Order: sequence, then structure tokens, then C-alpha cells
Amino acid sequence: MSDVMIPLMEDFYSLQGEGFYSGRAAYFIRYAGCDVGCVWCDVKESWDKEAHPEVELNTLIQRVKDSGTDFVVITGGEPAMYDLTTITEALHAENIEIAIETSGAYKIVGNFDWICLSPKKFKMPIEENYAIATELKMIIFNKSDFKWAEELQAKVSDKCILYMQPEWDKSKEMLPLMVDYVKEHVEWNVSLQTHKFLNIP
Ligand code: SF4
Repeated sequence: MSDVMIPLMEDFYSLQGEGFYSGRAAYFIRYAGCDVGCVWCDVKESWDKEAHPEVELNTLIQRVKDSGTDFVVITGGEPAMYDLTTITEALHAENIEIAIETSGAYKIVGNFDWICLSPKKFKMPIEENYAIATELKMIIFNKSDFKWAEELQAKVSDKCILYMQPEWDKSKEMLPLMVDYVKEHVEWNVSLQTHKFLNIP
């Protein structure tokens, strides 16, 4: 495993701020590289894979172990651009639970305990990813996104947990609409980017 190189933008130990595991301590592995192109992306520096030096997998696994975490979130960038089999096997060998956050635009290759699908209109998920999502997280940027969320709700499994989360800069405008929406559509939940309120990464 020592010669396996990971295209890493950053890694850090913090709390999961969003969605189902909000508030849980988590070690974040943020892959470099993304071609989805969301206009409101808050990690545009992740897009260019070449801008970030690769890291040896065993070095990264050691950092995860040193943190004492029992939970890793693999995110990006778009982590599903890569075959994640080796890293997920290495983390599971350390008894670490693994979640992935992905737009779903690529086939998800690896072994995950939790798959958070956060579709983007700029590059839609491939069809097979709807059925395997354990969490659907829709970013609400404008009013038309409620209808889009319903369209994608119809594609995921009945067990998939549904979240809608306001795009950060649109929170003031969208949150009151979301509160009303969730009261009328009780299968949905509101997700907030609590790490931004807490001012942690
Ligand atoms: S998929 Fe994520 S990393 Fe890629 S552009 Fe969209 S928000 Fe940014």
C-alpha cells in the first residue's frame, strides 16, 4: 500500500457539519479534482488536481489513526472520479466507518458504509447511483429546486434519508421556504452547514 498515491487536497479532523451525521466527529479526506462545475462551489480550489501534491496512502492512514477517529468522510472535489477500493479497504481494516459525499456523476467504486448523494444540475448523477444512496442531500439555490428535489426523491430508494440544505449565500432567502416545505412534506429534513456557524473547517 506504500506506493499507492492519493490525489489529496486536504485532510483534517473536525465535526461533520451537514446531513445525517451532523455533529459527529469525523476525519475528512478531501480529494483533489472535480469537473462538475457548480457556480456556487465553495471549494473551487479543489477543482485542479495538479495544484495539489499527491500523498502516500499509508501516510494518510496513519494520520487518520493518530486522530483517534472512528469515522471518515471521503469528499472532494469529486472523490468518485477515482477508484476508492484500496483506501476504503485500508480504512475498514482499521475498523473505521466510511461515508462518501459525492455528486453521483461517476460510478462509485469502493466499499462504503454510507453514501451521501448530493446531485448537481451541472453534471447529473448516473442512474445507478440513485438506488445505492443512503442519504439524498439536495442543495436549494432557488425556488425551482424544490421541484427538482421531488423529481430526484422519486429515483432513490424508500430507505434513503432525505435532506434539503440551503446554498450558504441564499440561506436567508431559502430557509423560510424550506421550513414551510418540510412541514408539508414530512419525509424531508432540513440540513444546515453547522460547521460554518461553529467556524470550524
Ligand atoms: S461537485 Fe462539489 S467540489 Fe465539485 S464543483 Fe460542485 S460543489 Fe464544488
